[in-house]
Amino acid sequence: MPTLGAAREILRRLAEVMAAATSAQAKLNQTVRLIAAVLDAEVCSLYLRRDGQLELFATRGLEQTAVHVTRLSFGEGLVGTIAQTKEPLNLADARAHPDFVYRPETGEDLFRSLAGVPIIRAEQTVGVLVVQHLEPREFVELEMEALQTVAMVLSELIANAGLIDDLTIASERARDQGHVRLPGLRLVLGQAHGSAVFHRPRVVVEHAIADDPAVERQRLSAGFNSLKAQIERLQMTAEFAGPGDHGDILETYRLFALDEGWQRRIFEAIDQGLTAEAAIEQVQMRTRARMRRIDDPYLQERLHDLDDLSNRLMRIVSGKLGTAAQAGLRQDSILLARNLGPAELLEYDRRFLKGVVLEEGSLTSHATIVARAIGVPVLGRVTGLQTMVAEGDPLLLDVNGGAVHVRPSPSMVKQFEALARAREAKQKQYQTIRDLPAESRDGVRIKLMMNAGLKEDVAALDLTGADGIGLFRTEFQFLISATLPRRERQEALYRAVIEGAGERQVVFRSVDIGGDKSVPYLVEAQDENPAMGWRALRIALERQGLLKVQARALLTAAAGRTLDIMFPMVGEPWEFEKAKAIVEAQRERMAAQGRPIPQLIRYGAMLEVPALAEMLDVFLPRIDFLSIGTNDLTQFLFAADRGNPKLAERYDWLSPAVLRYLRRVVGACRGAHKAVTICGEMGGRPLESLALMAIGVERLSITPAAVGPIKAMIRSAMLWPLRDKMDGWLAEGCPDIRERLRRAARAMDVVLE
Ligand code: PEP
Ligand code: MG
Repeated sequence: MPTLGAAREILRRLAEVMAAATSAQAKLNQTVRLIAAVLDAEVCSLYLRRDGQLELFATRGLEQTAVHVTRLSFGEGLVGTIAQTKEPLNLADARAHPDFVYRPETGEDLFRSLAGVPIIRAEQTVGVLVVQHLEPREFVELEMEALQTVAMVLSELIANAGLIDDLTIASERARDQGHVRLPGLRLVLGQAHGSAVFHRPRVVVEHAIADDPAVERQRLSAGFNSLKAQIERLQMTAEFAGPGDHGDILETYRLFALDEGWQRRIFEAIDQGLTAEAAIEQVQMRTRARMRRIDDPYLQERLHDLDDLSNRLMRIVSGKLGTAAQAGLRQDSILLARNLGPAELLEYDRRFLKGVVLEEGSLTSHATIVARAIGVPVLGRVTGLQTMVAEGDPLLLDVNGGAVHVRPSPSMVKQFEALARAREAKQKQYQTIRDLPAESRDGVRIKLMMNAGLKEDVAALDLTGADGIGLFRTEFQFLISATLPRRERQEALYRAVIEGAGERQVVFRSVDIGGDKSVPYLVEAQDENPAMGWRALRIALERQGLLKVQARALLTAAAGRTLDIMFPMVGEPWEFEKAKAIVEAQRERMAAQGRPIPQLIRYGAMLEVPALAEMLDVFLPRIDFLSIGTNDLTQFLFAADRGNPKLAERYDWLSPAVLRYLRRVVGACRGAHKAVTICGEMGGRPLESLALMAIGVERLSITPAAVGPIKAMIRSAMLWPLRDKMDGWLAEGCPDIRERLRRAARAMDVVLE
């Protein structure tokens, strides 16, 4: 059984092996013997990448005749799986694993257990190191750590010995392939034309074994100090100073940098005999392995911040460029990365950064939120970037179309640019109607507001000419913080939004957290069915402190003005009553204390849970306004998960069921003289929006980019005749309302694009 000293012992002896004046092959042979002996394993084998395959280069324990004969593809067998996933495997019974393949020439059928780690260089797998036992038992944690340390040292040895496949070969090969379309997930909509720039955050570790641990400790300490200073400098630059989303993100980031556990683990790795760089990388690899095992997307994002910090620290310690971004962008660059930290993104020169393509990424990641705020399109979850794209390749990024086109043909570029020009011309047109009312040709005035969630979004009010903010998603601030945002921070954000909006209305929605927007400091366990789980008002009514703090922040920020507040996911009237009572109690307390409070508070509810529509006769008199969240509402009406891509095309917002339902609700509100707004994505699509107006909707809150197109649509439409037509279609229950409406709109020259 190995002891704590196993890694240190292997490192010491490896240093001797490396220093000896022998051939590279002899060094590899000695290495596998050495590892087998120290770990007391019957087999130790080393596979290296050659011509795109994994070739057995050295073994102790398997048949020597298999050396340079046995080859596996990436993804083939257990070794191929380790190479492809870049993740270790530790199996008591290798044959029971579904990926196991048997290679008779190796004689490995005798051995039951298998543990293997990838050997990585410059983010690519260059080999796999494997140990095996006769008995079926897993290798212990210390053995796995020792293997990972050795893998790092080996990556240095095999690179120095020129044993690595040229990593540029794959991308050179890609260059010959002509145009490829790589699909991905739409994270931030938009289009861009530019050339590929790989984000290269990592420094290749040149020396893994330390000559003098004391010197390494000193280098690391100095590195931590510089790291802290670097982030503090970033925090102080005018753009990010003070409260607000960027500020929150960087504060979280700084706290991570000061995390003692992280620092301690790196110092411990130095004590094993590693250089500062190798120690940082070892801890980083462990964090990444943890990251892959975690299901919670929020925690994954936070661990990614730590990954970003490791890269930064590595650059400082190794004396390479201060940040990846300082390597510079050329004109019109599209950045390609596995993932990006928020600070990394902010450091690139925005004049040149036209778009981002990520192998990972999610809608709620920090970088996505920041990119949305600064208007950079992002495509996520794209596979094949490393192999299909070479640095400098021309790219057409079409996030709306869900893909990036690599090395597009000249005719594609022409088409794309023609479209871009048309879009620009449209934007100019929208600018000309920015200050005109959203009024139809037959005189129906629509209140056209926008959705927001960040302080930065408020600027879009002036740019688009929206009438106000019909939905401010306050949970965004919670999603980008490592801890619950304190009341002062909430208040500062709300005040900035209210002041930015001036005379225009802002409707704040109390936090809609939970479900897919989970934050670890509030929701401990993942619900099985998150959209219908412990979320939004359901949390707020149980954890009342949350709503109380938010209420005080809102009441203070809106002192002397009108405060519009609404609650998400109201299912039954009493939930609204209870939430309202919590806010009212805060108002009364503040008034009693002589604190400034709003002149008027208007309370609204979101209709997202279908059941609430059955209660409107008793419910509407109790509220000031209603807002229909069609994103959630329709998923519940159809029992179809809104995030499931397989169902995305199946149910239509223009089906008679949805439109009849909405018409009934809108009619009830009109009868009760209560304002009703549609604030789901549906309202931002021209044809859907037209359908809404045809059933009597007169208030919309939509994504800022849609304000121009929807206003243009409204100003070109005649709504009264459409209302008659729609009544007829709904009475018949026509299944093809989309088509009928499109035809009717075309006949009336309604601008739909
Ligand atoms: C909705 O459900 O339609 C809505 C506007 O809320 P969210 O998209 O934030 O859930
Ligand atoms: Mg909702």
